[in-house]
Amino acid sequence: MIFEMSGPSFFCLRCGKCCTSLLAEDKGVIRGLTLLPEERHLFPETMVKPAVGLGRRPHEQSFRIIAHQLTENTCPRLEGGLCGIYEERPVSCRQFPFSLGRGLDGSLLVGYDYSCPALFTSFGKPIGDLDPDVKPHAERLLGLETEALKNPRKAWYLDLATGKWVRYSELLEG
Ligand code: SF4
Ligand code: SF4
Repeated sequence: MIFEMSGPSFFCLRCGKCCTSLLAEDKGVIRGLTLLPEERHLFPETMVKPAVGLGRRPHEQSFRIIAHQLTENTCPRLEGGLCGIYEERPVSCRQFPFSLGRGLDGSLLVGYDYSCPALFTSFGKPIGDLDPDVKPHAERLLGLETEALKNPRKAWYLDLATGKWVRYSELLEG
């Protein structure tokens, strides 16, 4: 997420904030940087935990983990202010400070992360857009959320604060 344009006309200020504030509260649970299953190997095993699982109960054999997360607030791959794995960094990093969501009519919408100081003009207007090359990967991340929303009673998020799985439907109610 740092040291390059993340999309047309977006210029990263290289503040490093997006690599040093990775833990965030989301609907009452603490979550880390989301990782696709094939991105787990990029980080030390002890710093990666499941993030989203599907099934009736987390202890059941049929329970399926569809996303993982980094447990650290500061990324262990940050080396002297640079990303040490820039060419193979996770999709979550590639899309930042943009993300994809769905409108009520099902259309794709671009979301913005307000914590990025380079994203808005002094008039509050967002600068740039999601890189078209990153879009298909960002859609995959969005697909995980969509899959969880299909049946929130059978979707679970792991809360890094407590180490416990929380049912997605309970988060939506809260
Ligand atoms: S928070 Fe924004 S400006 Fe700062 S390093 Fe990340 S992408 Fe660049
Ligand atoms: S993988 Fe690289 S871009 Fe992503 S949080 Fe770590 S240092 Fe930053």
